[in-house]
Amino acid sequence: MSDLAGKRALVTGASRGIGAAIALALAEKGADVAITYERSADRAADVVRAIEEKGRRGLAIQADSADPAAVKRSVEEAAEGLGGLDILVNNAGIARAGTVAEMSLADIDALLNINVRAVVLASQAAIPHLGQGGRIVSIGSSLGERVPFPGVTVYSLTKSALLAFTRGLARELGPHDITVNLVQPGATDTDMNPADGEQADGLRALTPLGRYGNPQDVAAAVTFLASPAARQITGTVVTVDGGLNA
Ligand code: NDP
Repeated sequence: MSDLAGKRALVTGASRGIGAAIALALAEKGADVAITYERSADRAADVVRAIEEKGRRGLAIQADSADPAAVKRSVEEAAEGLGGLDILVNNAGIARAGTVAEMSLADIDALLNINVRAVVLASQAAIPHLGQGGRIVSIGSSLGERVPFPGVTVYSLTKSALLAFTRGLARELGPHDITVNLVQPGATDTDMNPADGEQADGLRALTPLGRYGNPQDVAAAVTFLASPAARQITGTVVTVDGGLNA
């Protein structure tokens, strides 16, 4: 399949996990792909190599999503390096657990800055580069709509913010034929939430399909939303959670 041939994409936080799977899936469909990472330079280089093995252009950019200047720079470097930008995937995110009563200011700030502010700033920086048919896809969470246990309130808040952001930005960019959508994973087997981790059995028990998803399950939804076939889908949500929110 090559329905993204000639497209240029930036995926934030794609040295590992869901972001890496999205970057590889976009390349598989024919896109050139830039990725950002915070610390994992070696893992990012592996992802770039895998993109290049598919015959596509790959580019790794070190950029801490908590740093507004770095976020803006990463979008500019991606557009310059790839010769333009058609697709932005806001994937970089962190999880910090803790009740509201106990959570530190540093954790609250980190969650808001990386999971929310960086999504706004990367989208803002991408807008001048995106033409007709452009795509913004952000990665939220099933916890953005439902909070089925305590201790994840602020994380859930950050993912909930992406629902309104997606709807509002879809209104703003619709006249330019640019779509904006949100993909909400449920429990997905990555370093953030390993399928053999302490929380895993509890999450499986809440999930009708009774299993973790893998990063490729999320990537499949993103590549569809990025494709020309999804041209009439904007301002909405695709939840890939095994039924967790049912
Ligand atoms: P991982 O922790 O496995 O990977 C996180 C990726 O984001 C890494 O590439 C990491 O880079 C990058 N990253 C983290 N912090 C920053 C930062 N400050 N600046 C730039 N890049 C950063 O996470 P997942 O793949 O599991 O999660 C991806 C997205 O999916 C997140 O938004 C998460 O909230 C969401 N999600 C995940 C779920 C799950 O069950 N796994 C469920 C629902 C949503 P580096 O390697 O350099 O640290």
